[in-house]
Amino acid sequence: MSSPKRIVLILGDQLDLNGAALRGFDFKTDEIVMIESIAEAQYVWSHKAKIALFLSAMRHFAIQLKELKYPLTYIKDSPLSIVEALKEKLIKKGVTDLICVEPGEWRLKQQIEELAGELSLRLEMREDDHFYCSHQEFLEWVADKKELRLEYFYRLMRKRHNILVDNQGNPQGGQWNFDQDNRKSYSKKGPGIIESPVLFEPDSATKEVLEFVNDTYPNHPGSLDHFRWPVTRAQALEALDYFVEYRLRNFGVFQDAMWTDTPFGWHSILSSSLNLKLLNPREVIAAVLQAWKKYSLDLSTVEGFIRQILGWREFVRGMYYLDMPKMAQDNYYDHQRALPKWYWTGQTNMACMKDAIGQTLQYGYAHHIQRLMVTGNFALLAEILPKEVCDWYLAIYVDAIEWVELPNTAGMALFANGGRFTSKPYIASGAYIKRMSNYCGSCQYKSDVRFGEEACPVTTLYWNFLIKHRSQFESSPRTKLMTANLKRISDEDQKSIVEHADHLLTHLNDL
Ligand SMILES: Cc1cc2nc3c(=O)[nH]c(=O)nc-3n(C[C@H](O)[C@H](O)[C@H](O)COP(=O)(O)OP(=O)(O)OC[C@H]3O[C@@H](n4cnc5c(N)ncnc54)[C@H](O)[C@@H]3O)c2cc1C
Ligand code: SF4
Repeated sequence: MSSPKRIVLILGDQLDLNGAALRGFDFKTDEIVMIESIAEAQYVWSHKAKIALFLSAMRHFAIQLKELKYPLTYIKDSPLSIVEALKEKLIKKGVTDLICVEPGEWRLKQQIEELAGELSLRLEMREDDHFYCSHQEFLEWVADKKELRLEYFYRLMRKRHNILVDNQGNPQGGQWNFDQDNRKSYSKKGPGIIESPVLFEPDSATKEVLEFVNDTYPNHPGSLDHFRWPVTRAQALEALDYFVEYRLRNFGVFQDAMWTDTPFGWHSILSSSLNLKLLNPREVIAAVLQAWKKYSLDLSTVEGFIRQILGWREFVRGMYYLDMPKMAQDNYYDHQRALPKWYWTGQTNMACMKDAIGQTLQYGYAHHIQRLMVTGNFALLAEILPKEVCDWYLAIYVDAIEWVELPNTAGMALFANGGRFTSKPYIASGAYIKRMSNYCGSCQYKSDVRFGEEACPVTTLYWNFLIKHRSQFESSPRTKLMTANLKRISDEDQKSIVEHADHLLTHLNDL
């Protein structure tokens, strides 16, 4: 083929034949470039399943492109970064027009823009149309707000897109949010039979990737033994159908519940497909609304699910592009401790952490409450440096791309931006974990003991955190209530809590 006029770069999380990258593609003059970069997989110490999912999905997408006769250069196993490999290609072909969709990582976006400057490229960076809310719309929403809160953004999205609203623009069921109905734990006897999510046996292309990842990244965390993720759009659609048909009905009620060896609960397990753009959020919401009518599902379940996609997913994306690069540097509490080593191995005596991290290493997946109230809560209470925590989340979850990982981790779990979009830190003692799971039953610690050998580290560190930040919590009406219970703990016991916490904090690796 003669030199193309324009290069269209498609990144590993932009795998949509109908996406913005291929809009107006000219088969005579344009060429697609896709790059597998070893450096990208090592940028954080990525879970093997995350690397494998990206590579397998990219290779399957490339097969589709070839079948559709798109001119494609697919660069395999490049030792260079994406931008270095792209630069090499652009110079070799003498191309000066580059088209791409905005990357989901601020660093890469900057690098591509810098490359365009360096090579005097005409760069057309298109906005990702896999979201309901454009950057411009988000900026307009932000403009007159004193406080940036999900709830008001979510209501606007519901109205603007006519989702779960009546003809007058009022919410279906008379309220915008049924969160209170969606916080049940499983019965004391356990979750009962949970319809398993649909899992996909690796085909030959995926098997090749799994072998490659095991050989190339043998020391990376996690296992590939349970790799059953959707790697094509057809599989992602099947996973969506199965979810709305069999699992959605119980999603809402048990959204926050946790149970040993129950890695997926009733959750959708669709985040990786959504984030790789194998699925469009619009078709996910349409399928959920259809199932709501067809099976007369509870409005609370349907609303609860839609809030995650139309609300949180859109909101955190808006916040990411609004606040970067500051979001990655914020450290409101000036926490400096290193991440305990067992975050990478699951080898800890705390049953809650062991289960949440153990399943993460097996599958590259944990559900929201495990991420927020188990591993995230502990990282905040243990005063871990936000950058270390964020790198862990980015590395370890198959759905982790910075635009969604960072606001959730730094902003929501760690309060690293001082409450820019949350009203108070999400912290809890062992009592919460006991209420929402069966973890404490098999733990060597006791969730209600605040100090001493048997004390639950989560509980000790929770009270220590409140004691340490008491004046800050009391200065705001939103957090004032959180310290009220401290009044019921004697000064002597508070002293013992602080002493015990000091010991824990200096021996985090031994927990
Ligand atoms: C510390 C922390 C880190 C996180 N990192 C990521 C990440 O890297 N990638 C990611 O996709 N999600 C992340 N989340 C959000 C959420 O935990 C996952 O989206 C969810 O667990 C994925 O599982 P699921 O598909 O079964 O979701 P479900 O519970 O079935 O929810 C349905 C969908 O809603 C969306 N969603 C739900 N909650 C959120 C949220 N808080 N923010 C954005 N979208 C949401 C997801 O697309 C998800 O697939 C993080 C949350 C926390 C607390
Ligand atoms: S007792 Fe504490 S450490 Fe153990 S499982 Fe319960 S909350 Fe976790």
